Amino acid sequence: YKRRLWGEAMTSVFSLEVALALRRKAAQMASAAAAAAAGMGCYSQTSWALRRLGAGGGALASAATRRRNCSVAAAVFDNQNREYVIVGGGNAAGYAARTFVEHGMADGRLCIVSKEAVPPYERPALTKGYLFPPEKKPARLPGFHTCVGSGGQRQTAEWYKENGIEVLYEDPVEAFDGKTQTLKTSSGKILKYGSLIISTGCAAARLPEKIGGDLPGVHYIRDVADADSLVSSLGKAKKIVVIGGGYIGMEVAAAACGWNLDTTIIFPEDHIMPRLFTPSLAKKYEELYEQNGVKFVKGALIDKLDAGSDGRVSSAILKDGSVVEADTVIVGIGAKPSVSPFEAVGVNIEVGGIEVDSMFRTSIPSIFAIGDVAAFPLKMYDRIARVEHVDHARKSAQHCIETLLTSQAKAYDYLPYFYSRVFEYEGSSRKIWWQFYGDNVGETIEVGNFDPKIATFWIDSDSRLKGVFLESGTPEEFSLLPKLARSQPIVDKAKLKSATSVEDALEIARSSL
Ligand SMILES: Cc1cc2nc3c(=O)[nH]c(=O)nc-3n(C[C@H](O)[C@H](O)[C@H](O)COP(=O)(O)OP(=O)(O)OC[C@H]3O[C@@H](n4cnc5c(N)ncnc54)[C@H](O)[C@@H]3O)c2cc1C
Repeated sequence: YKRRLWGEAMTSVFSLEVALALRRKAAQMASAAAAAAAGMGCYSQTSWALRRLGAGGGALASAATRRRNCSVAAAVFDNQNREYVIVGGGNAAGYAARTFVEHGMADGRLCIVSKEAVPPYERPALTKGYLFPPEKKPARLPGFHTCVGSGGQRQTAEWYKENGIEVLYEDPVEAFDGKTQTLKTSSGKILKYGSLIISTGCAAARLPEKIGGDLPGVHYIRDVADADSLVSSLGKAKKIVVIGGGYIGMEVAAAACGWNLDTTIIFPEDHIMPRLFTPSLAKKYEELYEQNGVKFVKGALIDKLDAGSDGRVSSAILKDGSVVEADTVIVGIGAKPSVSPFEAVGVNIEVGGIEVDSMFRTSIPSIFAIGDVAAFPLKMYDRIARVEHVDHARKSAQHCIETLLTSQAKAYDYLPYFYSRVFEYEGSSRKIWWQFYGDNVGETIEVGNFDPKIATFWIDSDSRLKGVFLESGTPEEFSLLPKLARSQPIVDKAKLKSATSVEDALEIARSSL
């Protein structure tokens, strides 16, 4: 596929600021500086080439070589581990770290530079178990550090230490210099990398400050600090407004029901989850939310958020002039890929994010991007995509690191998978757990009454099953979905339409495999 901004990336990445900082440090230590000038690239292009040849290549960067190279530069750079640097300490970083450990390539070699104060965790928990009311056993760290979400080990701060992984906390990377292979953090640290893995994820889209987007009581939720702040507001809240009818909005609204709060969801579309749900499917979920006391204001745009005399948010004013009172507002209007300061590596202008190939290599040798921030070839559907879901964060991390450390040269062949789980707190009368696999294109056939199961099948004009959604399936039923979506069988539409139950419909689909 077409690489964008290749030439620009190759020529314009030099950051004067980083170069000057390096020079200042080097000048302070004259003898180290002389050595450093000779060995500026801690890892030469030869060693890149060797590593790319496979595991043997990686192993050839022997401990002795690493010790020699790093002692040369030890006085100049602020990270101990310089062979591999991951920028971003989120979901993908946690799974990448695990893959490094599995290949025996973490100890003394891997550094993670994180904006957050804690090691990587399973981010989806923030709008699920984390928001349970205090008396209903909310999830808290260290309970959900990666990689517990996929049944793996819980990687606490001790785990990183024990595995020789250097983690720099609360120090985001602010500048990047591809020529000298260095990074500068917000505290002024200059870091050296051999291979760089960008896993900076996304940031929550915000309402502009001038319309009240930054008022006290207005929340966005991306990290655990945001979730803590929201929990403290929920403890005092009476009336909440959720802006946005997507994942975040629906999960936060479900959580608010557990707190018995007066909750209104406002969004511009005709129904919830507009990018995935059909109107008919959305209706079933909306009714469940309404039974839990949630109100919907559909087809509405926010004009501004107003503050009360105490300066806190007090209401949402809609474009049609109507007013919805609120002491707490949660904004869930999407997310933007965090490409800064790596724009020069090559950003895909259509989907945003850093463009990579099917092995997560960017346009610059030895720089990779994974997780939410990566714009990658979605092989199955022959298009470039960014996927903001945890399954892709995990799988892209593993695929990328295996490619980097071994002779694997397989193209990433991702099958899109989304899920949500809500109303799971103790005492909830109805738990929700749905999964979707594939592509939601073509006509739809819906089977079931949501009592508790419902299934939707997306079928294209050739009668190929493209996508499948299931609510409240059994483990065996859920395990059928990826097989269907991956093999895209031709299905008998008439038979599927006449299915008398979800079980029956799944059996019809299975028989077409
Ligand atoms: C509240 C919430 C609920 C979700 N629920 C679901 C769900 O139910 N199902 C699902 O499939 N997906 C869900 N997701 C999406 C899923 O969590 C993401 O797809 C996944 O976390 C992506 O992993 P990542 O490592 O790419 O990004 P992230 O996990 O976001 O990690 C990126 C990290 O990089 C850091 N960072 C950014 N810039 C810099 C910098 N310059 N220097 C250093 N660090 C930096 C960030 O602070 C962050 O710690 C949810 C997301 C959120 C926010």
